[in-house]
Amino acid sequence: PERPPRVSIRELPDELISQIAAGEVVERPASVVRELVDNALDAGATQITVKLLAGGIRQILIEDDGCGIPIDELPLALKRHATSKIRSLNDLESVLTMGFRGEALAAVSSVAEMALSSRTANDAHAHRLDARSGELTPAARGVGTSVEVRELFFNTPARRKFLKSENTELAHCVDAVRRHALARPDVAFTVWHEGKLVEQWRAGDQEQRLRDVLGEAFVRDSRPVEWQIGPVRVTGRAGIPDAARSRADQQYCYVNGRFVRDKLLVHGARAAYEDVLHGHRQPVYALFVEITPELVDVNVHPTKIEVRFRDGREVHQAVRKAVEAALAVSRAGLAPPANE
Ligand code: ADP
Ligand code: MG
Repeated sequence: PERPPRVSIRELPDELISQIAAGEVVERPASVVRELVDNALDAGATQITVKLLAGGIRQILIEDDGCGIPIDELPLALKRHATSKIRSLNDLESVLTMGFRGEALAAVSSVAEMALSSRTANDAHAHRLDARSGELTPAARGVGTSVEVRELFFNTPARRKFLKSENTELAHCVDAVRRHALARPDVAFTVWHEGKLVEQWRAGDQEQRLRDVLGEAFVRDSRPVEWQIGPVRVTGRAGIPDAARSRADQQYCYVNGRFVRDKLLVHGARAAYEDVLHGHRQPVYALFVEITPELVDVNVHPTKIEVRFRDGREVHQAVRKAVEAALAVSRAGLAPPANE
């Protein structure tokens, strides 16, 4: 077979680097919603409003009452690898903010039209930065930040083709807000679509938030979880066996306030139901794991949906014991779990 002709090595243009990187974080409108709500929470917002058009494909507008971005830093916010959240590798190891990679705004602005409007407590008025033109203009809003994202994937048609119907994309967007809302009952969330109110969750305590977001039945048919082993604390609610469903669609796991998909946590929770759930019934639960940040690596995946624990067994056991205690499952006659 003939050898293909050699092509010389070139550095990619910045714009293309950002678009490639965006592929990892921005899959659909819901990914944008997740990143922007992360930012609003990191900014200390107490009220977050999400306004969508066409399932978020035409427009995602997120307004918060957080600390805002000073005018001289607005262009920096859009730059790749620019962040206010870490300064060193050391900071990364103890990071408790949702963000730290300094990638989201750069990524989104490379695959959509974007504008940032922001005002800090020191500003007399807000400023608006148009990402494409770089134009800065005065704007009207209170202290906080609004991020406007329009026409997602307009310049990457291959990606745009992978989008589903507006209704499906909307459902994913609402899901993204729901996941944040469960972890942050102290923050009020509002979601609008095409000018209609879709969801409104007022600030309150965790039980109230679980009731508002997952429904009355979830709270009625679940037990409070409250457990601590060493550096691992587990709280939340675990559904009684009778509340189990045929699908695993009400299993929410968090690590230090971050929604995660983690086999270890799911397995630990499942183990607690071992003797009380049969067949393929799926338990329902919302579990919030808090752990010393040094004992968990959140920099495993660009979207941070996966984490790695330094001592997986310890976390697995904490979750299992926490749920077992909540259910007060009688373990009589069974060998005690290892490590006790
Ligand atoms: P990261 O969140 O990883 O730092 P982003 O690209 O998401 O990276 O944001 C870049 C920077 O812009 C943040 O570090 C923060 O300083 C600022 N920023 C973004 N969104 C907001 C917001 N809603 N309120 C205040 N500052 C923000
Ligand atoms: Mg961010």
